[in-house]
Amino acid sequence: MKRGLALFVLVAAAAAAVWWAGAGKRPPNVVVIAVDTLRADALGCYGAPGDPTPRLDRLAAQGVVFDAAVAAAPWTLPSFASLLTGLYPGAHGAFDVDRRLQDDRFTLAEAFAEHGYRTAAFTAGGWLKESFGFAQGFEVFDEETETGKFREKIDRAVRWADGDDDRPWFLFLHGYDVHSPYAPTTRPPPPEGYEPPGDALADTLIERVEGNRSTTDLPVSDVATAYLTVEPSGGSAALARFRKAYAGWEERFAKPVEELWRRSDDFDDALAWVEANYAAEVRQLDRELGPLLDFLDREDVRGETVVVLVSDHGEGFMEHGVCDHELVEEDVVRVPLVVRAPGVAARRVASPVRGVDLFPTLSALTGAPPPPFAQGRSLLPALLGEELAPEPACSFQHVARAAGGVEASLRLGTWKLVESRRVDGGAALFDLGSAGGETVDRKTEQADRFAWMRKALDRIRDQSDRFHRVHESGPGTLDPETLEELVELGYLGILPPRSAGEDGAGE
Ligand SMILES: [Zn+2]
Repeated sequence: MKRGLALFVLVAAAAAAVWWAGAGKRPPNVVVIAVDTLRADALGCYGAPGDPTPRLDRLAAQGVVFDAAVAAAPWTLPSFASLLTGLYPGAHGAFDVDRRLQDDRFTLAEAFAEHGYRTAAFTAGGWLKESFGFAQGFEVFDEETETGKFREKIDRAVRWADGDDDRPWFLFLHGYDVHSPYAPTTRPPPPEGYEPPGDALADTLIERVEGNRSTTDLPVSDVATAYLTVEPSGGSAALARFRKAYAGWEERFAKPVEELWRRSDDFDDALAWVEANYAAEVRQLDRELGPLLDFLDREDVRGETVVVLVSDHGEGFMEHGVCDHELVEEDVVRVPLVVRAPGVAARRVASPVRGVDLFPTLSALTGAPPPPFAQGRSLLPALLGEELAPEPACSFQHVARAAGGVEASLRLGTWKLVESRRVDGGAALFDLGSAGGETVDRKTEQADRFAWMRKALDRIRDQSDRFHRVHESGPGTLDPETLEELVELGYLGILPPRSAGEDGAGE
């Protein structure tokens, strides 16, 4: 970096870090709105047609929108652990279903607590529970949920934030509103001539599997579609039974069900129906976040509160053969990231940024202690309109239990390296800026770049491994009750490898 530019960045960063102190104010409040499974391109502000998210778009129009935010992992547990530690999954260690975030990792909530903030998390359970290590640093940690949706907890969260206390606050809000099964209150109209499967199919599947009866007459397309769109009546217990029954049914096929589903006559209509239900859930989410956004817009709150909108991963809709997450392709690892901060002008940032950058960024904005070791960096210069120097942005999917090893991607500018058993030769290089995007492998014509990026990925992996070895205080330290719960829900041992890390265990 040129000296003059470096100096300017330092001055600008210092100015932002003390904007509140200079005015004799306390540090700003911080709220992180963490929408599980939200694809960036499902939001109007990221180009979704039809004005699906007017409320969130307004927030985005007042803040800094990161167009290429990369999640550190394509599923809930490791991705949120990365957001809250500034570490990649290999370093924080919570990268498989039987692992938790160790107590010796320093979290964002602990940084705020140390900095004199009061802290609260209202989560929708599943992986985001105390048993997985997420309660560290929170004075209030509310993980109980009936619906898994934001609407259940917004009132409580707002009452807590609006409480009579002089300390600044850090509020972490999480909901599975748009996670499968996509079951919006108002269903979209099905494609003409297509009859979607209903609750009855879910019940039938549960009864048959639990009674060891044949399921061969059930149409693959209907069962797959029901799994993605039907929320069986009876709450989380019924959903858990349905998931378990589905896993048992899926085991009969020695290949992903999606492969068979794709060959069904009604596949195009069924997929359109699935996607329409996801989109309807995103619309509903936007409406249901209204009371929270109203509170954050209140005159006395807005001027002293940093608002972050983020997701842990997106969702694939068969772009890469899967209707799910747990892939390192763009549908899944590109997530929305919006930061609205007092005194920070609205803008868009095209350079790739990372989930692991959130912690250092919020430290820079508030003066809270930064992570002692971080694999991300502060995005404050970007918030202030500076160009970011290019840095690799990685995602890791640990599938070691299934002999597939670790899948990974590395993004640098528009180039993206993917290492996966699903691509030819185990690794591919894509130019996301070209028309072919993530479909045309350019590793042969870009051999040098390909080799260099693989080395860069190896270095980050090695760094994570070394950090983990130094800090690991014991393998698989989940308490026996949680382990039993996971086995009961079908997460350990019986699921095919592709679904091994599927989330929503406790929704
Ligand atoms: Zn998730």
